[in-house]
Amino acid sequence: GDILKKRKIAVLGSRSVGKSSLVIQFTENQFIESYYPTIENSFTKSISYKGVDYDCEIMDTAGQVCIRDEYSILNSKHAIGIHGFVLVYSVTSRNSFDMIQIIYDKIINFCGMKEIPCVIVGSKIDLSQRSSRQVQATEVEDLAKANRAAWIETSAKNNVNVAKVFELCLAEIERKTPTKAEP
Ligand code: GDP
Repeated sequence: GDILKKRKIAVLGSRSVGKSSLVIQFTENQFIESYYPTIENSFTKSISYKGVDYDCEIMDTAGQVCIRDEYSILNSKHAIGIHGFVLVYSVTSRNSFDMIQIIYDKIINFCGMKEIPCVIVGSKIDLSQRSSRQVQATEVEDLAKANRAAWIETSAKNNVNVAKVFELCLAEIERKTPTKAEP
């Protein structure tokens, strides 16, 4: 179609799980080893998905996301009109995986919805060969199933499944009709 649909996607997760790397690999096709962390960055990219062009604004909540920060970003004016969420943990960090359910619940409570369009992303799978994997795929599969979310494992470094994250997010947004209360 020739109607450009606008979609706003927020990327959340613990510090250093690779949120910026994921977003920059997707929007700029590069992997930067030492990307300088900022409080928040917004990227735009057009995505053609199933014959529809989507004008996507991707909010990278770089670096500082703990529970409180994650909550504050939802309080910010930027949170208004978010269509979908990408929740990132690293497969090399059990702690970052444990944060996913906490962040998910925060969003659910904040938005006052039963469910949200959401993709759970296990990052850094290029490191998982070196016996540093702390989270198995079966675990994220169970977590995703329990929350009726999509999931995928990625490597921003090797550009594995990076575009797929955002396609899944668009699919989630189309699949779920949010009953978000507009302010
Ligand atoms: P953020 O704080 O969640 O935005 O994380 P960053 O994107 O800044 O990444 C944190 C660190 O992990 C950086 O040193 C990145 O180079 C590294 N990193 C990010 N993604 C990957 C990946 O897919 N593979 C590997 N090996 N390292 C990654």
